[in-house]
Amino acid sequence: MDDGPAPGTAKVLDLLRRKHVRATFFVVGERAVRSPALLRRMVREGHVVGSHSWNHPEFLGLSARRLRRQLFRADRAIRRATGQRPRLMRPPFGEVTPEVRTACGALGEAVVLWDVDPRDWKDREADTVVKRVLKHARRGSIILTHDSLKSTRSAYPRIIDGLRKRGFTLVTVPQLFARRMHAGRVYLHA
Ligand SMILES: [Zn+2]
Repeated sequence: MDDGPAPGTAKVLDLLRRKHVRATFFVVGERAVRSPALLRRMVREGHVVGSHSWNHPEFLGLSARRLRRQLFRADRAIRRATGQRPRLMRPPFGEVTPEVRTACGALGEAVVLWDVDPRDWKDREADTVVKRVLKHARRGSIILTHDSLKSTRSAYPRIIDGLRKRGFTLVTVPQLFARRMHAGRVYLHA
């Protein structure tokens, strides 16, 4: 789940708790400093918090120094809120370059992309988002969604129930890879 923590993220956490689902949240650093309690709650309730940069710039064309600064500031925000450094990083817009891999490798972070994208930021309609996720999910899939979007938040109950009905088990990204992930490497699906 990307781009949070947003005001609606608390409701998502309520839902996940009710349904006994653990998720992976890729948070934006400058939003994390405004809602550290939400990050603490994520960790307390068994979710994984990854970095989604400091303020969501395009990584393409960013100087090495600015890129490192984006990653460092996001990590610091997460560390201050949760006491833990992130081990996962999802680049904004999925923009991975050799520089991104190197910078993440130096920070001990794996780069996590996705193989299922319901384009929920574009088509902000819960029904459409549910349908696309259920249609494209496969064993080992990493599903990209945005808990910052109201339409997606109202899609989550049906996504969870629908995936389970099809026999899937919902896990965090580290669980998906049985924790065998390597810093600086890119992951799309298991
Ligand atoms: Zn994003």
